[in-house]
Amino acid sequence: MYTCGPTVYDYAHIGNFRAFLFEDLLKRWLINRGYKVMHVMNLTDIDDKTIKGSQNQQVPLRQFTDFYAKAFFEDIKALNIQPADVYPRATDLVAEMVALIKTLITNGYAYRGEDGSIYYAISKFPDYGKLAKIKTNELKAGARVNQDEYAKEEAQDFALWKAWTPEDGEVFWETELGKGRPGWHIECSAMSMKYLGETFDIHCGGVDNMFPHHENEIAQSEAATGKKFVNYWLHNEHLLVEGKKMAKRLDNFYTLRDLLAKGYDPVAIRYLLMSTNYRQQFNFTLESLESAKGAVERLRNFVRRLHDVEGGKESNDKISVLTSKLEACFGGSLDNDLDIGTALAALFDFVREVNNLLDDNKVSKSEATQVGGLMMSIDEVLGVIGKVEAEEPLPLDIDALVQKREHARKSKNWKEADEIRAQLKTLGIILEDTTQGVRWHKEKT
Ligand code: AMP
Ligand code: ZN
Repeated sequence: MYTCGPTVYDYAHIGNFRAFLFEDLLKRWLINRGYKVMHVMNLTDIDDKTIKGSQNQQVPLRQFTDFYAKAFFEDIKALNIQPADVYPRATDLVAEMVALIKTLITNGYAYRGEDGSIYYAISKFPDYGKLAKIKTNELKAGARVNQDEYAKEEAQDFALWKAWTPEDGEVFWETELGKGRPGWHIECSAMSMKYLGETFDIHCGGVDNMFPHHENEIAQSEAATGKKFVNYWLHNEHLLVEGKKMAKRLDNFYTLRDLLAKGYDPVAIRYLLMSTNYRQQFNFTLESLESAKGAVERLRNFVRRLHDVEGGKESNDKISVLTSKLEACFGGSLDNDLDIGTALAALFDFVREVNNLLDDNKVSKSEATQVGGLMMSIDEVLGVIGKVEAEEPLPLDIDALVQKREHARKSKNWKEADEIRAQLKTLGIILEDTTQGVRWHKEKT
């Protein structure tokens, strides 16, 4: 599996993390279903944007991108994204890119333009446009584009190797192709095939990468090898802010760091960005982050409650019926084009129904353990619950305060109840009034 990684010229924004979280969910699900996954994610460290950034800061390209690469690894750790097996960087694989371009020249798909750069002749590749559904007869064959990013309407011969120009400053490689640097698209063809072979199974990225980036990757790789490049393409839809794609150039983006600095929980961010089906756009709001936090808390409280079950009667098969239903629905939904929305709905139905049984003391300890095991295996896919310890018993004086507050609440003495709640908070105990009565947890330090 190859996933287009971040362009390391700035902190990644949460739109980028929507892509990386969808890919994380996909990978975790494949592993859960018994597949062995080899995951390669590149770091784009040579492109128009990284070069410009390093020049603006007047530092060497690698030093400039190292800073953002490090930040990226910190961010994915905070979001509990499982690391890829390999993170190739374009600057480390220029020789492979040159070799690939040479093959394309030999095979008659590439030519040198009068500016000295080497271009891909899209008219030579009959399948050009198939992925992004572009009609080839509308293409301007022979016209050339030198930038890394351009629109579908501007489909043209694109640069594989860019001859050095003064704007590139210190960024160039002296190679058999001349002095210059690779284009963005050839980077991903070279990096994916180096680690995954000429044909591999899955290639992901956001929909904005479908054209020109992935279209060009197919054209380059298949023209060089004569083989099918990728078996399955999966593109996630965009994260929007107020109806517009979250993007740096629109200046409407949040980085993960912005949200963490405002006190938002990374697990809630993970949950929110992962919980909408990947083919659907969704609009990011801070309120939705609050409800994501609530959803994660519900799951954690449920697991904690399961730990606390002492005796309890057997449920007369009710638990085993509910767990089988959940396994079938959760798994069946994710098997169906990674339908996480339906999978999560089934999970919360299950939590509600088991909570009802717990309220009636109709869950035995062994049943609670069985349900706890199921929740843990589901969390290997979701990655939001983590290790939830049973709470140790409350010290007696604190327990007395909790009881006193309950008594105050029952007699509708709200003022006293609030005062006791505040007093408990200073002792690090957080109370939660639920429909099943008061619950408490220790404040995280
Ligand atoms: P970049 O760092 O721009 O190369 O993008 C890294 C990944 O994030 C790519 O797969 C992009 O397609 C994806 N991406 C960029 N913007 C968004 C967005 N607003 N929503 C979802 N994915 C995005
Ligand atoms: Zn790529």
